Amino acid sequence: MGAFRAPWYGRRVPGSRVLPSGFRRALAAIVGDEGVLASATDLAVYECDGYTLERARPELVVLPRRTDEVARVVRAAAEAGVSFVPRGAGTGLSGGCLAGEAPLMICVSRMRRIRAIDLANRRVVAEAGVVNAAVSRAVQAARLQYVPDPSSQNACTIGGNVAENSGGPHTLKYGVTTNHLLGVELVLPDGEVLALGDGVEETLGYDLTGVVCGSEGTFGIVTAATLRLEPLPEAVTTLLAIFESVADATATVSGVIAAGIVPAALEMMDRTIVEAVEAAYGFGFPTDAGAVLIIEIDGPAAGLAALEDRIIAICHAHRARSVRAAADDAERAALWKSRKRAFGAVGRLSPSYATQDGVVPRTRLPEILARIEAIATRHRLRIGNVFHAGDGNIHPIILYDERDHDQVERVLAAGREILAACVALGGSVTGEHGIGVEKMQELGLMFAADDLEVMRRVRAAFDPAGRANPGKIFPTPGGCSEQRLPRRQAAS
Ligand SMILES: Cc1cc2nc3c(=O)[nH]c(=O)nc-3n(C[C@H](O)[C@H](O)[C@H](O)COP(=O)(O)OP(=O)(O)OC[C@H]3O[C@@H](n4cnc5c(N)ncnc54)[C@H](O)[C@@H]3O)c2cc1C
Repeated sequence: MGAFRAPWYGRRVPGSRVLPSGFRRALAAIVGDEGVLASATDLAVYECDGYTLERARPELVVLPRRTDEVARVVRAAAEAGVSFVPRGAGTGLSGGCLAGEAPLMICVSRMRRIRAIDLANRRVVAEAGVVNAAVSRAVQAARLQYVPDPSSQNACTIGGNVAENSGGPHTLKYGVTTNHLLGVELVLPDGEVLALGDGVEETLGYDLTGVVCGSEGTFGIVTAATLRLEPLPEAVTTLLAIFESVADATATVSGVIAAGIVPAALEMMDRTIVEAVEAAYGFGFPTDAGAVLIIEIDGPAAGLAALEDRIIAICHAHRARSVRAAADDAERAALWKSRKRAFGAVGRLSPSYATQDGVVPRTRLPEILARIEAIATRHRLRIGNVFHAGDGNIHPIILYDERDHDQVERVLAAGREILAACVALGGSVTGEHGIGVEKMQELGLMFAADDLEVMRRVRAAFDPAGRANPGKIFPTPGGCSEQRLPRRQAAS
């Protein structure tokens, strides 16, 4: 396979990638010597995120421990005209934290303090580097939880979740990060520290917390977030429904929602993924099934059994081969483990895989899956599907061998066609993985030049000099998505 070129090659670089002399020493004076990484070995870790298609090594990685350190680092960068890229755990799947045009990476992984747990008001103030799952762990004794649960929740950070407005299996009923965010602390690119949102349910004025959520690091560095807590449900039932065909499974998804039922989670895996997961974890999935649905319902114990009966009836009305509830907490946990680690299992099927992330209205799921199958056949590729079916958020996994250049070209073409099909069906080019560098050109499928200009102006209100995560999100004239060559890539 030939060398690949990242899309920022040849483009204008705001600021400079060459760091001024003495800059490294100035940062070390703020965060300590151990908080500045500059050796090739250290920097190699930071050259990409979970989207490994493109790589770019920063010149320096700085690891602040507190908000005041972030502010001082950012101020030093502003004075030196240096652009920066924020980073959490690097589990992003769209190349959002690649150091493309920015020489300085500011990684918040040492900011892991939960500053306040306010059980009475059901909220937590967590620093940006706190790992998602740690928030729920910190409050579980009080039978509370932080609901947004990306499948990467044992690694990804609250700062990354805010930047990507992350979702997860349980966001069907409970919403995504923005629905659970009561405030953020943000260090602007000039070093000013802003507190947005009052940490209360209703605030006056523009919803600037909401604007920051999903801004992919282009407004500055989120240093802390105030998160809403929810009570753990009194009862939970998790169903596994087996279908002969993907069409019957997706029709069931629409049927459940049309019946006025909103499950806590409604996830689908097709035969390709079930085969991989079964080989990896041996849960007991039938590998000859066309598709399986994981349907979770929760709430007050009273009434849950009746809801379960209704869902089972809908599954059977769509020709389910079988439907059964997880027998106990252990089986439920094993089922979720299989789903959440599905992508690790895909590595058993092919040397490389590329993940797409798109959305369609959930009633169009049968159509998009049929189109994906047709695209796979036309390009002679194998594509597996595992996704948040209830949200219409698809994740086609394209299997291939990166040593075969012709296959790589077909993977790229198939990915573009899948995203175009999502848009044509009334959906979106991303559900939860963000735009990053991966989908900058595809954004043009959804937004006109005027729309993008408005977005640029919003961004400029926070970052007039364009030094926070430059070269991301916005399409560039003559962008070179056709030059990308995919490599192995993880997904949710
Ligand atoms: C196996 C796997 C499963 C996944 N499952 C899901 C899923 O179910 N749902 C989902 O939504 N995503 C999922 N993801 C994607 C990813 O985990 C999320 O996007 C996550 O929120 C990224 O967090 P992070 O800390 O790793 O951020 P990073 O990857 O470090 O950064 C992501 C983006 O956020 C910016 N950023 C990071 N920290 C900050 C900060 N403090 N301030 C400002 N900007 C910042 C970066 O510049 C970058 O643009 C999955 C990824 C993997 C590898």
